Amino acid sequence: MTAHTLYAQQAVLGAGDALEIAPALIRTAGSRIVSVARGTRDELERDGQWPSDVDVDLLDERTLLAPAFINAHTHLAMVVFRGLELEAMHGNVVEDLYYRVERNVTAADVEAFARLGAYDCLLGGQAMVFDHYYHGDAVARACRDVGIGAVIAPTLQDSGGPGEALCEQGLRETADIDADSALAERGIVSCLGPHASDTVSDELFARALALADSRSLPLHLHAAQSLEEHQRSHQRHGCSPFARLARLGVMGGADGDATRPGALLVHALYASDADLALVGERDMLGYCPYGQVCFDHPAAVFQWLDLRCRVALGTDCAGANDGMNVQQELRAVAAAFAFGTAHSSAHQAFEQSGEAEAASAVRETRQRWLERGKQHLVPARLLASVWSQPGSLHPRARAGVIEPGALANLTLFDCAHPALWPARDPLRALVWGDAASAVTHVLVAGHWRGERGNFARSLLDSDDYREARAEADRRLTELLDRL
Ligand SMILES: [Zn+2]
Repeated sequence: MTAHTLYAQQAVLGAGDALEIAPALIRTAGSRIVSVARGTRDELERDGQWPSDVDVDLLDERTLLAPAFINAHTHLAMVVFRGLELEAMHGNVVEDLYYRVERNVTAADVEAFARLGAYDCLLGGQAMVFDHYYHGDAVARACRDVGIGAVIAPTLQDSGGPGEALCEQGLRETADIDADSALAERGIVSCLGPHASDTVSDELFARALALADSRSLPLHLHAAQSLEEHQRSHQRHGCSPFARLARLGVMGGADGDATRPGALLVHALYASDADLALVGERDMLGYCPYGQVCFDHPAAVFQWLDLRCRVALGTDCAGANDGMNVQQELRAVAAAFAFGTAHSSAHQAFEQSGEAEAASAVRETRQRWLERGKQHLVPARLLASVWSQPGSLHPRARAGVIEPGALANLTLFDCAHPALWPARDPLRALVWGDAASAVTHVLVAGHWRGERGNFARSLLDSDDYREARAEADRRLTELLDRL
């Protein structure tokens, strides 16, 4: 069993709003953090707590030891769609384009493409991704090979979409991954992945919920992600997607059910206040601002936050937005209020009149949004959406916190790197800066990935990466030929 003893002069401790940066000695064993002792090296020595086996001594003030980022919603294999033509984005890109290609993709293709997506995430300082895709076992193998943790949701779909034939397999894979202790030791677990409210029947939801109950697994699904989904729900079920999901018992906390963890409901673009009132205390809304900007519009995240919904951030697939860097999504949340001003009716009035009074109204609109957002735009609260919040969803894969029992998923940042310097408030720098370029090492379930100080280069120069890329190149060529 691998074990580490790390000392950091600057470790990010605590969770949620209550984060602090303090010196600490952290011990890991296998995939987990087993102890956290606060104190400087001098203090620990004085108390007889300084061990002889410290293998990573981060005495320097420039290194920040933080929980590794969690990407709470992605489809790793869809990195293969990166750079697709923007014309495809005008309609419903999921149904018009993805489904057509996905009918031609094999499990081996998914494994090869997912490896490239996993490397992209790892390089951004992520040690856990919530993946949702067909051939979940292939995605799990890809994550294991690359060395990144994952909560795998094999996509379940029985009412339209390319996954109908894979539905039984998806349920089996969910149970198999959950029972695989070797994968769990690498930080790879499973959850239930109904695709979306309009592609899953009541019967399939019932089977998914039964499996979730019996294995204590969370759910991860798209919910109210498109206008079509909203319309279909009203036509077929006489209610909104969220109302139907609540009726089916998908919302984990809504009925006081004590055994099942919550549900991660992703996108919620067409969700009213009444819909959001159905979200339970243990549930979470998935926000993917850059992806949503590309496939429809960014979700009304201030509506969610004002209604006290918990938020987890994801990148969605690189096919929609070209990016897999979840840290950059933080900047989009932090800046969300300002974009509202540019497209407000006050600004439209100013565009037409150009008058001083109309200009003042624009500024007032901006101040109103800033006031509304002030409480939500605190760095610790924003960081919770890539750390402790998604990290609390799966009971057997707690992450996003430096605490005993949590997965040993840690990222080292160089605060003297020009991308973060001078980092007087390192948490603020992690929200607003380009933190991925300052990543110097990542620990995934107790295993270091790459070389410290030469992190990205050492991974990209490895034979593993070269082989992964060669296979993905070959399979992409063959896929395009088949299409
Ligand atoms: Zn998605």
